[in-house]
Amino acid sequence: MGEFDLIARYFTRPVRQAVLGVGDDCALLQPAPGTQMAISCDMLVQGRHFFADTDPRQLGHKALAVNLSDLAACGARPLAFTLALALPDVNEAWLAAFAQGLFALADAHDCELIGGDTTAGPLNICITVFGEVPVVNGKSQALLRSGARAGDDLYISGTLGDARLALEAMHGKLTVPNAVLAAARERLQSPAPRVALGLALRGIASAAIDVSDGLIGDLGHILERSRVGATVQVDQAVACIACHVHDAQTAGASGIHLSQEQWRTLALCGGDDYELLFTAPPSQSAAVAAAAQASQTPVRRIGKMDATAGLRLLDAQGQALPNHYTSFDHFA
Ligand code: ADP
Ligand code: MG
Repeated sequence: MGEFDLIARYFTRPVRQAVLGVGDDCALLQPAPGTQMAISCDMLVQGRHFFADTDPRQLGHKALAVNLSDLAACGARPLAFTLALALPDVNEAWLAAFAQGLFALADAHDCELIGGDTTAGPLNICITVFGEVPVVNGKSQALLRSGARAGDDLYISGTLGDARLALEAMHGKLTVPNAVLAAARERLQSPAPRVALGLALRGIASAAIDVSDGLIGDLGHILERSRVGATVQVDQAVACIACHVHDAQTAGASGIHLSQEQWRTLALCGGDDYELLFTAPPSQSAAVAAAAQASQTPVRRIGKMDATAGLRLLDAQGQALPNHYTSFDHFA
């Protein structure tokens, strides 16, 4: 099967919102009046971001999910995406499954494939997404990393650390019951981008980022861009880990034996969660709760932003904790 047959067979579908999709030198998108385009690009490389034997359906899902997560963090509504694909060979079963996972998520978010590039080479998947944010009274409604202010509350959606838990278990570094591993693997391999929450937070959140590299690292980007500091109640973040393992006290009963230090490491440094980390002024706390409810996404307050630069970590008793979470490997 040649390159053009492959594109026609697996990656060409009629467009619904775009003016022109796959087949010409360029695709055409018509931004709605009074909107801006939000654009983001993420690449997945075999060996670096996924294992060679990863289920292609999950890979199709994840490649788009990590990009939609960036739109979510900006409060942008997904419109369209392009797909650049390097393939070691033409494996039709693989392509069919990959396309299935990709389009299932695309359809769920009404985001259409409008073009791309296909070449032979080591497996590499690069997606660029295009989304839309309104401009109201001349002001962009996009949520940015730079908008946090001292005094704002800090929130996280969903749960943290599940993907890292799955990775550690898959590497044989810890043992978890099968049911927990299955749920954690699902988070690692088929993350659900928080698009609905991002949209609901427009006009409410002051800053946002999606957690792809771990809470501490990604919070650092907000601190830097917003020129503020933060205080995080670490055990509030730990309590975010998936409900079936969520309480370190009952974790023993669920068959997971981690030290407090390891629980904290999962929550603070675990990557690949694709939750939204965001800030909002205390006056917006009811609006944040309403946005969480409207988007059916759990949200939890885990700290606040400070005028004093830097990151401070507190335990449940309010005692300062040393911040060594990025430099120690608590699973080594
Ligand atoms: P060009 O040579 O002009 O760059 P190509 O021959 O690479 O165009 O691609 C032909 C058409 O197929 C273009 O519209 C391009 O956007 C589309 N396309 C190529 N690869 C993919 C892909 N993996 N998924 C979707 N569309 C693709
Ligand atoms: Mg061309």
